[in-house]
Formats: sequence, structure tokens, C-alpha cells
Amino acid sequence: MSQRDYYEILGVSRDAEDAEIKSAYRKLALKYHPDRNKEDGAAERFKEAAEAYAVLSDADKRRRYDQFGHAGVQGAAGHPGAPGGMNIEDIFAQFGDIFGGRGGGLFENLFGGFQGAGGGGGAARGRSLRARVTISLEDVLNGTERTLVVRRRVNCGNCQGSGAKPGTQPATCPQCQGRGRVHQQRGFLAVASTCPDCHGRGEIITSPCEDCHGSGQVDQRSEIEVQIPAGIEEGAQIRVGGMGDAGVGGGPPGDLYVAVEIRDKEGFHRDGRDLYVELPISFPQAALGDRILVPTLEGDVKMNVPAGTPTGKLFRVRGHGLPKLHGGRRGDLLVRVYVDVPKKLSREEKNLIKDLQRVQKERVEE
Ligand SMILES: [Zn+2]
Ligand SMILES: [Zn+2]
Repeated sequence: MSQRDYYEILGVSRDAEDAEIKSAYRKLALKYHPDRNKEDGAAERFKEAAEAYAVLSDADKRRRYDQFGHAGVQGAAGHPGAPGGMNIEDIFAQFGDIFGGRGGGLFENLFGGFQGAGGGGGAARGRSLRARVTISLEDVLNGTERTLVVRRRVNCGNCQGSGAKPGTQPATCPQCQGRGRVHQQRGFLAVASTCPDCHGRGEIITSPCEDCHGSGQVDQRSEIEVQIPAGIEEGAQIRVGGMGDAGVGGGPPGDLYVAVEIRDKEGFHRDGRDLYVELPISFPQAALGDRILVPTLEGDVKMNVPAGTPTGKLFRVRGHGLPKLHGGRRGDLLVRVYVDVPKKLSREEKNLIKDLQRVQKERVEE
């Protein structure tokens, strides 16, 4: 089997700096991540990139590779029999940190699900959780705070998360002798994988804690305060760090992601920072002008409608829109007026309008 050149795989030149290699690898890993990319061959590209990175990111291995090619670094990715010897879990265990680990944002979820990610030894980041809140347009104006009740996994208080009955100790895993990994021979290849008995922890619990039955975690209903900033947009997500499930084996906890939904307010329409309302005015008001009341999120304000206002005209009431997220000038309230035509008229109104019609006709005929 011929192997592709590692520099070629990462798409970098032979004199690329470390930072460039790291960045190239990160891009490829995200592109071909098996959770995100279901295309044929994506997993292979992903592993290939990880192998190339394992060699080129290590000064010593890189020097040997430059001098002797693939022969100089056989098994360098940490597994006898590479290429192809790495499995996806191994890659995360080794390179989880390249993605920024904690605080990495977008991809935390991705890596949280893998046993073995984020520190090896069976440590895994806790699952991230999702919740949803619905707020009013007034809440968008002022910002608000909500208390969410979230069911999450937390470390068991009885055993301090160890899973072992207080006063007892976990035993070394006999399957892997405490290494957390086992090697299996598959044809010519020795494949390393996480120990199935201890799930990579290296130890097993002989007398389980009674509260958590050995898992080290229990379900808990947590009340979590969430600050919702003024100016937030529909569909925005707020991350509450560390409020997901507790990590496993000393791994960090997941996060809580709160999706924000904004309830419609009758008569109001939002466009970014600006608010729109439609307001009926009478024909006399449109023709003669008037001072009218306009609804805002903070009560009514007065607005001048000049004489001769056509239907559909848009007026701007400055500063009565919504704030920008993280500060800045407030948007405006845009008021579209339309001339309301009454469906029912009193006798007097009818007569007056007929008079108006007659006068206007005569004026046209003059
Ligand atoms: Zn326990
Ligand atoms: Zn084991």
C-alpha cells in the first residue's frame, strides 16, 4: 500500500511553521469529522489527516520523516501497524486539545460525546444540554432573567463521583491491567481501542455506591439562572458554561444552551433594532392633520400627522425601537398610517360626505 505524503495531506509546504500545520490539520479535521461529514471516505480522510498531524507536529518525528519518509516514522502515530491503525476515539484522545478544549464553543458538543476525549484515562466531557425560553418584546427592550429547572447529571454526593461505596476502593481493571486501552490483532494490524470492561478508566468498581449504583453520577433538578441580554434576536442561543451534565472520570462538565424565542406582540413587527406599527387615521385627520397617539413598548407617545398625509406614509419616531445587543443607540419606531374607511356611516356622516363629494365635483367642473 502506498502512502500519501504527509505534507500533501495537510496541504502545507515542507517548510511550514508549526502554527500553519496545526491550523491546516484543524481545518481538515473539522471538515471530515465523521459526525459532520457522512460522505464516503470522510472518515478515512479524517484519520489520514490525524496521522499526518501526529508526525508533523512532533519535531523529532518530523525530522525523521523528512529524512527517511514513511519508513522513518512507522507506527509513529502511536499505534503499531499504522497506516489506518488509529481509530476515531484515539484521535480524539490524543488531539482533543487542538480544538480548543474548554471554551472552544462550536465544537464542544461534538467532542463531548466521545469517551476518551478531553484528557484520556477515560475522562470525558459531560453532555451538553438544551433548553428553551420564550420572552416578550418588552423583555427584549429591557433584558430579563429567567430561572430554568433543568434535569442534569451531577456527581454523586455519597461517593464524591467515584462510584465506589464510601470506604472501598476501585480495583485495577484485569482486562487492561489499568491501562484503559486494549490491543487487538486484526490480520496484520494491531488495533488499539478503549478497554470495553472499564471504558478507559483503568479501574473497575467492585462495591458500587448505593446512591448512584456505581456510575458516580445521579440525576438532579437544578434551578439555573439565565441572564437574557436586551436586544437579543429570535433564535439566539445563550451558553451557560458548565451547566450541562457532569463530566465522566474527571472530565469537564458540558454546557447548557438556552434557545431564545420571542413571543409576537399584536400590531408590532420587528426588523433588527427597528419596530414597525400600522396605525389607522381618519380621512379628516389625513386631510387636515392631527396629533395622534402611537403605541410603543413603553406606553403611548404623541405624533404629529401633517395636513395632507397620504395613506401608507411612514413616520419615524426616533429612539423608540429596541436596543442593540451589547449596547449602542436604540432603534426607531416606524409608524405606517393608513386612511381608515368606515364600513358603517351615520345619516349625518353620510350627508356631510355627500356634501364634500358635491363640492369637490363642482370644483372639478369649474
Ligand atoms: Zn455514588
Ligand atoms: Zn480496562
